Amino acid sequence: MRFVDEALISVKAGNGGHGCVSFRREKFIPKGGPDGGDGGDGGSVILHADPRLMTLYDFRLKRRYEAQNGQPGMGSQKFGRKGEDLVLRLPVGTQVYARKDGAETLLADLAEPGMETIIARGGRGGKGNEHFKTSTMRAPRFAQPGEPGEEFSLRLELKILADAGIIGLPNAGKSTFISRVSAARPKIADYPFTTLTPNLGVMIREDDPDQRMVLADIPGLIEGAHLGQGLGHRFLKHVERTRFLIHILSIEDVDESNPWAGFDLVNAELAGFDPELACRRQIEVINKCDLKSPEEVAALKKRAQAEGRGIHFITAKGSGDPEALEELVRALWTLREEEETHAPLQHLSAEEEVQDEEFPEIEVIYTREPS
Ligand code: GDP
Ligand code: MG
Repeated sequence: MRFVDEALISVKAGNGGHGCVSFRREKFIPKGGPDGGDGGDGGSVILHADPRLMTLYDFRLKRRYEAQNGQPGMGSQKFGRKGEDLVLRLPVGTQVYARKDGAETLLADLAEPGMETIIARGGRGGKGNEHFKTSTMRAPRFAQPGEPGEEFSLRLELKILADAGIIGLPNAGKSTFISRVSAARPKIADYPFTTLTPNLGVMIREDDPDQRMVLADIPGLIEGAHLGQGLGHRFLKHVERTRFLIHILSIEDVDESNPWAGFDLVNAELAGFDPELACRRQIEVINKCDLKSPEEVAALKKRAQAEGRGIHFITAKGSGDPEALEELVRALWTLREEEETHAPLQHLSAEEEVQDEEFPEIEVIYTREPS
């Protein structure tokens, strides 16, 4: 699934500071020579590919970015201070287009983590008048102006990859879970399979708001497979690109004689499509615990522990059990950290993109902003 995230921003590098016109003034030297210093260079706007960011979310909230101007030069040959660079951190995979007169040119493709590129160069500082002294012109009364910094209108484009795919039987509470843990719930526009609209959520890490995790609930994965529609297959190809899976089962589908059968059923279907996907790490979650008595839930928890299944028992809807939900969220961040090192997210290669043409690109629209 390719969710296309987009933002329009403008960037401006700092102007160079003007060179200074100044003459030495000393007590016993009536006509001092020129001593105007150079202006400082303007700061540049630099793009940095940060693997912790997952969406272009922030760039929809703030649109104009300016690096600092250089300071003008001063007398006594003092240089003006250089303007500070502005570093914009973007998710890995962001493509940056310059927009001018209705046309677009690709300026940068931040394909690799840590990649940096100067997108708008700061203007050079002007030279002070001391540079313009010649034998015939001992007292130049001019200096060079600073150059303006580069300025661009940019379109940022990102094919969002989900960190985690949410799987489970219909009605397990997958969509409810997403809306509960997400700071933003992008709406997906123009999706042709209207009954099978994918649902994305963006989680923001509480103790480090720079870190984002994208959860994708892809209905139709199991539902479609169940009905033999074959749609499951097509979606599955994209779930393959997630780092790990969140497997949700409703407690309504838990039967005492064989409580985890619901998980096993979905896993069997998954394995039928793609054995590798079935081996992907999973966090198992039993939802709707509010529908059973605390004693019944406790008994199930005990049984899961005894059988070595690290199942999280939650209530996604309502006030439920916030601690259990928090614990699950912490476990998701931990899992993501672990998977980040040995299962980096893979962007589609150009070849795969072509094969993937039957998949529409889905525009992402944010419906809720973070507080
Ligand atoms: P999905 O098909 O897996 O996406 O399931 P939904 O999130 O659409 O939820 C299906 C139904 O279960 C909805 O009516 C939800 O309101 C309800 N539901 C979800 N989570 C809970 C829960 O924790 N407790 C209860 N009682 N109902 C829930
Ligand atoms: Mg749903």
